[in-house]
Formats: sequence, C-alpha cells, structure tokens
Amino acid sequence: MMRPYNFSAGPAAMPAEVLEEAATEMLDWHGSGMSVMEMSHRGKEFMSIRDLAEADLRDLLAIPEHFKVLFMQGGGLAENAIVPLNLSQGGAVDFVVTGSWSKKSAAEAEKYCRVHEAASNVADHHTSLPDPGQWRLSPDARYVHICSNETINGVEFHELPDLKALGSHAPLVVDFSSHVASRPVDWSRVGLAFGGAQKNLGPAGLTLVVVREDLLGKSMSPCPSAFDYATVASHQSMYNTPPTYAIYVAGLTFQWLKRQGGVAEMERRNVAKAALLYDFIDASGFYANKVAKDCRSRMNVPFFLRDEARNDAFLTGAKARGLLQLKGHKSVGGMRASIYNAMPMEGVNALVDYMRDFERTQA
Ligand SMILES: *Cc1c(COP(=O)(O)O)cnc(C)c1O
Repeated sequence: MMRPYNFSAGPAAMPAEVLEEAATEMLDWHGSGMSVMEMSHRGKEFMSIRDLAEADLRDLLAIPEHFKVLFMQGGGLAENAIVPLNLSQGGAVDFVVTGSWSKKSAAEAEKYCRVHEAASNVADHHTSLPDPGQWRLSPDARYVHICSNETINGVEFHELPDLKALGSHAPLVVDFSSHVASRPVDWSRVGLAFGGAQKNLGPAGLTLVVVREDLLGKSMSPCPSAFDYATVASHQSMYNTPPTYAIYVAGLTFQWLKRQGGVAEMERRNVAKAALLYDFIDASGFYANKVAKDCRSRMNVPFFLRDEARNDAFLTGAKARGLLQLKGHKSVGGMRASIYNAMPMEGVNALVDYMRDFERTQA
C-alpha cells in the first residue's frame, strides 16, 4: 500500500514496517494467544518485550552502565515538573531558553525551585543559539536545563554543551523529545535526558528518561512516588503499570533502527534530508527559513511562503499530492515539515518537487 508522506511534528509518522509488524502480531503475540495489550506487565512474555526494548535502546544510543533507563508516563510536559522535583532540592537551577519548549520547562520549574535564566535567544525571536561561552551559569546550580531540539522553532544544538569546559559541575538536563535517536549522544556531557516517544520512537504515552545513577535518591518530599526516579528505577519501571503497548511498539522501532544501521546511519540520512530541504528553500525567492544556519534543526523545518496569502492554497495542493500535516505551529505561523527518522529521502524529495511546482503555478 502506498501511504502519503506525513510531516506531522508529533505524534508523528512511524516506519511502515513497524506498523505492519504490530498489525500482524495484534491478536496473537508470538503464539501466546494474547495481544500485547492483554498481557500482565509482570508476566514473562511482557518482561521479555521490556528487557529487549531496553537492551536495544542501550545498544543503539550507547548508553553507559551507570545510567538508568526509565520507561515512564506523563510526556515531556510532566517531566518539566518531575525533573525539578527529583533533582533541584528547591535550590537554584539554570535554564537556557532557546524556544517554546525550554521556555515552558522554565515556567513549570518555577513552582519547585529558583529558576535562573542563564541565556536566551528571545531577542532573535528564537532563531539562533546563544554561544555557550557567554552563558551566565550559577555557581550553585543543581542542574542546567536545555532543550536540544526546539520542535516548534526549528533550532537544534548540533553538539551538546560541555559544562565542565565552561567551569560548571552541574549536571546537564536535556529535553531531547524531538530528536532522540536521530544521532548519537555524548553521554559524558549528560546528567539526565528525557523525551516523549511520539516524535521519533513510537506511540504517545511512553516517556523515556535516561539518568545518571548518582543523581537518584534526592527527590523533594512532595514528589509523587510514581514519579520518583529512584522508585521507578528500583522497580525496573514497574512500580506502577507502565504503558505496555507503547513500550512494545517503541521496541519494534528500536529493532527497525538497528536494521537500518543504527543512529549513526540515521544521522547520515537526516543530515542529507535536511540539507536537501534547506538548500532548496535558501535558493528560492518564494520560500524562506529564518533560523541561523549553524543551528537549524534536522528534524523540524519551519518555513514561510513570502506571500502568506498563498498559505491555504499551498496546504490544499500539498494534501492533494499526499503530503500531510505541513501547517506550521500557531505561535510561529507558516509551514513546518517534520522529517524524523521515519521520513525517507523520497518523502523530502516529493515535498521539494511539490514546492517547486507550486511556485511555478503561482507565477
Ligand atoms: C513534544 C515535546 C514536548 C511535550 O511532550 P508531551 O508528551 O506533549 O508532554 C516536550 N518537549 C519537546 C522538545 C517536544 O517536542
């Protein structure tokens, strides 16, 4: 079946092979007579699914032994509260504000700790990245928060900051919701990374947290037990019922990623996909992208028609060509093409062909 290309920012397109596999196994997983949805989360069948998912993820992202992998619920937004409840002890926390998501994270953290804005790109309307050398880091910060890919604004850290080199001993907390598994991670620079699954890993409902062991066990007393990292870790993410089906489908995605050649190969493809689209936009007088070239997201590409009166016609024509969900986020406007791991080069080619054709019909 030929499916349309889906450019949704999230929940986002999944690899067709993964959906087909899940469909095949829907009524009877591996001869068990059960759908994965119908299994006890503590039974041997689901435990084997969970254990394989964790092992594959550790392998794919090269997660070191001294980090815990937690399968949680609540999404990125819940983590905005769960992280300060677990790590801040009510003290000072540094935030680097680079777009809508890090701004939201900082606002939520204010309920639990003393938020200090170490740097911001608000003066550039979130189209640049503040140079880490210029960040005003607090000497007593419990952690430093960044969003390594701003899904709405299309700004990405192509390299994680090295806080030690900046003279800080605080752990780095990274919201990597919208580019996890799109490239390798340098764990030597990370204290904790979290992300909702629905952009690049699987269905909504699963939240991934990867946390360095020495950061566990310092939660504030109002922290809900089900959201206390130490409790979740000591129960292998089974303190309460985890999102079993979402873990299973994410596990299928991890297997698919391994068959593709892993995250280094994904990074190579993502670089090529993004270059094709940005180069086309930059060469055009009809379309524009406003983000500084050194920090453009490889996952989320916001772009504008210079004549915004043509937006509706653009979207209608795109849909007729099987190019779905290109409308930009309401806070930014224009268009946004999200080109996560599951988007093949052919999809980006089809988009660029359409953009070229649309421009011609408008002349
Ligand atoms: C989508 C997203 C979130 C929010 O995730 P929810 O699962 O809706 O809570 C947080 N951060 C980033 C960077 C995102 O892209």
